[in-house]
Amino acid sequence: MKILLQFPEGLKQKALAKAKELEAEGNWVAISASPTFGACDLALDEARAIGADKLVHFGHSEFCKADFNVEYVECSISAPLGVLPLSVEPLDGLRRICLLTTIQHVHQLPEIGKFYESKGHEVVLNEPTGATRKPGQLLGCDAGNVAELDGSVDAFVYFGGGTFHPTGALMQTTKPFFSVDPFRMNVERLDRIRAERARRSKGRIVSALTARSFGILVSTKSGQYHMELATALAKSVEDAGLVAAILVANTFDFESLGNLLEFDAFVNTACPRLAPDDNGRLRKPLLSAEELKTVLDLRNQK
Ligand code: SF4
Repeated sequence: MKILLQFPEGLKQKALAKAKELEAEGNWVAISASPTFGACDLALDEARAIGADKLVHFGHSEFCKADFNVEYVECSISAPLGVLPLSVEPLDGLRRICLLTTIQHVHQLPEIGKFYESKGHEVVLNEPTGATRKPGQLLGCDAGNVAELDGSVDAFVYFGGGTFHPTGALMQTTKPFFSVDPFRMNVERLDRIRAERARRSKGRIVSALTARSFGILVSTKSGQYHMELATALAKSVEDAGLVAAILVANTFDFESLGNLLEFDAFVNTACPRLAPDDNGRLRKPLLSAEELKTVLDLRNQK
């Protein structure tokens, strides 16, 4: 069989060994060297270009159906649990907690849950919806039913590294939100990020109020392609008497976007984390679809 292997950045170090293992079984194997951002980012074009029979995507659960033979290989990583005692005091008095983590650590949630139960907490897990597949799983763009749980838990506890994954969930809650990072041995409240994001969003909206031309970003990544939404957004801009054009790329390069000097603002329909996370790298405002709607509403009221 002709196979293309695709690994996210943190797992690329395992690519050669896996390729040799599959070759020893009689397969022809190539490795995608492109950056990989998630299971939304399947290397389908590369697989088709080399005539592969199958794409094997490591490290993520299925994100959306693909019209290609794709095998997902989830990679569990057992993080050290020594950080858990550091979270006991900060969580004191917060009885019902919702545990969240990435697909790599979902298998550790029963053990982590038992730890917190032994400290008197009632533990719940978010339920998968949309692109999440397992109870307790978070994606940067999908937090399962976290918003529904907001009214019934006292706090959310994210177990894992970094702030990319928990930030999407954080924005759907009003409750105390803790990050318990087993790699940095650190426990911290992430609640301040809500206010920061709201302030940045307001800034983007204000700076786009005088924009006359809008570039609507459409990514060709398998799970990020939203041409229908982009077309509707472009129409709403033109209906407001302004200029819009659809801009297509697989991965958006902010330097190249910056060279599109005729555009006063951009609107993101790709990974929903692109606008809030990368806005500082562009000199022009990069709006979400909701922020564009606010901009157009505010202009209408003038
Ligand atoms: S957050 Fe962005 S990169 Fe991650 S799975 Fe969602 S669309 Fe893909």
